[in-house]
Amino acid sequence: MGLTELAEVIGADPAVLRDLLPPDVLPVAPPDAAPSTQGHDFSWLAAGDPVEILVGYSSSEVVVAAPDIRWDGHVPVMCVADAETRSLGCGLMQWFSDQVVAMRSQRTATFVACGRCRRSTPPEWMLDDELCQRCADEDGVVF
Ligand SMILES: [Zn+2]
Repeated sequence: MGLTELAEVIGADPAVLRDLLPPDVLPVAPPDAAPSTQGHDFSWLAAGDPVEILVGYSSSEVVVAAPDIRWDGHVPVMCVADAETRSLGCGLMQWFSDQVVAMRSQRTATFVACGRCRRSTPPEWMLDDELCQRCADEDGVVF
């Protein structure tokens, strides 16, 4: 499971996928609210740290999704903000590449710069509009 397997499913060179996806591609559990077209044999990968994109694949379909991370108490829950599904076949790599660019920009557009450390931070790690949780933590805010 992983990038090599995804490359086999798509019929692409793993090096091409590695260039296309943000670093740190890791297998993850199926996200909540995954598309209804999803079969039970789907494997999921999350790419980026923080996660910028989700990719699901089975023996017949590929899903590219923009993640939306919510909190269940102190536990981050991976959800899907938006997703596109396509059957394996002709033109898949071009479609995949386009979707990765589109879904990544949808996700990174939600990142905000912390008012103090200026670090680009995904919304789930912002305490409010101004302060990231890391800076809030330094202030001794208890979650
Ligand atoms: Zn900060």
